[in-house]
Amino acid sequence: MDNDHTTKNHPKRHPDYLRIATEEAFAPVEMLDIYRKILAQPDVDPGFKGLMGFYMSSPSARAQHIMRCLTDLGDIRLQHMDEAGIDHQVIALTAPGVQVMDTATAVSFARTANDQLAAAVRRHPTRFTGMIAVAPQDPAAAAKEIERGVNQLGMHSVIINSHTQGEYLSDPKFWDIFAAAEALNVPIYLHPNSLPRNMFQPFHECGLDGAIYGFGVETGLHALRIITAGVFDRFPKLQMIIGHMGEALPFWSYRLDYMHNATVKSQRYDSVKPLKKKPSDYLRENFYITNSGVAWEPAIKFTQAVVGVDRVLYAMDYPYQYAADEVVALDAMTMPDEDKKKFFQTNAQRVFKIAPR
Ligand code: CA
Repeated sequence: MDNDHTTKNHPKRHPDYLRIATEEAFAPVEMLDIYRKILAQPDVDPGFKGLMGFYMSSPSARAQHIMRCLTDLGDIRLQHMDEAGIDHQVIALTAPGVQVMDTATAVSFARTANDQLAAAVRRHPTRFTGMIAVAPQDPAAAAKEIERGVNQLGMHSVIINSHTQGEYLSDPKFWDIFAAAEALNVPIYLHPNSLPRNMFQPFHECGLDGAIYGFGVETGLHALRIITAGVFDRFPKLQMIIGHMGEALPFWSYRLDYMHNATVKSQRYDSVKPLKKKPSDYLRENFYITNSGVAWEPAIKFTQAVVGVDRVLYAMDYPYQYAADEVVALDAMTMPDEDKKKFFQTNAQRVFKIAPR
């Protein structure tokens, strides 16, 4: 099952650490059938149409390749992992997952997707780990699916693709999901979604709505909303994961702390209430950060300096950013061996409960 990937010009298996990529995506073909029906509806969400409408219909080689890779949980994926020197993928249902569906379909399809992913993990236990997809549209059902994912499917993390039809997890109506994740000790990966309807236009008219910028802005906003709503005062052991170098929040930390404090004191907004800690404290204590899409040494080191080397993890963002060159560049980072092993391997093993081998 495990090929020795020693092909010339490809990164070889590293002697000192496993490379565990932690924000990798898949899409069941049945989900694409549901998406086709949604895309055919009048007044379809423009962000969804711009994202999956594009990938599912574009004749471009890049789009077709991505769709082929997304729907594969076998040979194609394993071959690409071997060619890029990736030992293990942590896989999640691609954005927007079930969050764009009507509630009944979303609840039901989350279970289907989780069963499919769990079956793939059983086929390739040394190569794949799965995240639990949930339908935030029905928070009680989502909490139950987290429990089923952990206790019956052996999965130990949850994927949520940012906003759900314009609604944010900072709304207490969603907090059954946080209660379940905290009680079962599983982190929630807050992954980008396409921009909600009321954010879309100013980004889209200049082509900045997607992964280039809009995704990061919206997901960073979502994480901040969760922090400032007091979620971690209510659920202090809850852990979340954000990609793309923390959606730039580490870089914002100083100003967030200063201005949050000033805003609380000014009593300018009813929504800005005192928190037990500074916003950056929650980033350090309640978030893990992956470098998905950002194979850039200065950003990785800065984030390690802000949140600590135990909280920064490697991710490739396969198949959207499948680039073996980036693996080579990250291997070459000037960083203590011990910290590099944490980045590539041991932090992921701990956070996602991946058995050492
Ligand atoms: Ca991704």
